[in-house]
This record gives sequence, structure tokens and C-alpha cells, in this order.
Amino acid sequence: MDRKAVLVIDMLNDFVTGGLQCKRAMPIIPNIKRLLTAARKSGVPVIYVNDAHFPIDEEVVAKWGKHAMKGTKGAEVISELKPSKQDYIVEKRTYSSFYETGLDMLLRAFYKGEGVKTVILTGLHANMCIRHTSADAFFRGYKIIIAKDGVEAFTKEDYEQGLKYLKDVYNAKIVNIDQIIQELS
Ligand code: ZN
Repeated sequence: MDRKAVLVIDMLNDFVTGGLQCKRAMPIIPNIKRLLTAARKSGVPVIYVNDAHFPIDEEVVAKWGKHAMKGTKGAEVISELKPSKQDYIVEKRTYSSFYETGLDMLLRAFYKGEGVKTVILTGLHANMCIRHTSADAFFRGYKIIIAKDGVEAFTKEDYEQGLKYLKDVYNAKIVNIDQIIQELS
């Protein structure tokens, strides 16, 4: 067992069906759901990392408009992927799941303090939040697995270029969810 954790990034109402809708996100929902069920069963931690913006997050709001505002319906995880009681929820205010969020401290506490070695990334978007999260994971010495059929982006090009960059720069393994599940148990 190589001490994994699954991250579910920005699978929120605003990103999937709301103001920042990513139509390509629909098909990855059942895949992520399958992975989460398997992870919970194998005792692999599941961590949701969710945008939760304040109105004063000016740079992000200027770029994207108001989205995933803390405390609103748009900032909630989509109902299909509703967190279970044993899962963890971390809020972020910019692209990276690590930036000023406490995620690193959490990951290092799992497995009786031995810490997570490999992060499995799912969610949105391959070329933005997944990319910046991968960068920060890499800088901190984590191995990275990207769920090939569990991440997406606004366009096919963004998705493909996003994955290529993760593989080329952060040595991320790009793996289908069925295979990830097999390797969990
Ligand atoms: Zn945001």
C-alpha cells in the first residue's frame, strides 16, 4: 500500500452546471463516483478541495466573474458526488489546492502520521486548478496520478495539452480510473 489520497477538485455546482459551466464535465461524474466508492472501501482518504471565494478575492473575480462564492449553492459539491461523513473538505481561494489551505498538513497526518505519498487528482480543470495543484504537489515531493477519465477542461485542446504538461513537467502518471481502482486494493 503506497499511501494514496484522492483529491476531488472543484466539482461544484457553478463549475458543472452553473455560471462557469464545463459541459465536458458530465461524463467524468460517474467515473469519479466509482473511484470514491472504491477509495472509501479501501480506507484511502478522500479530500474535496473546493473553491470558496469571498467578494474581496478581486483578482480571481475580475478574471472569472463571481463564482463559487463561499456559502452559496454554487459553491456546493454537485449532489452526485456528495461527500460522505468520513471525507475531508478543504476550501481554496485560488487555483492551487495547496496555496494557503492547510492541505499539506492534512496529507502529512494520514496513515498514522507517515503521510500520503501519492495524490490522485480528479475534477476540474486539467489545465488550471489540476495543473497548479500538481505543481504544488510536485514541489512538496508527492507523486502524482491524474485520473485520465476523471478530469476535464473547457475544450478538448485544453484537456489534452493540460495532461501533456502534467506528464512532461511533473512526471504525473495519467491513468484510467478502472486501473486506479485495481491498484487501490
Ligand atoms: Zn475560483
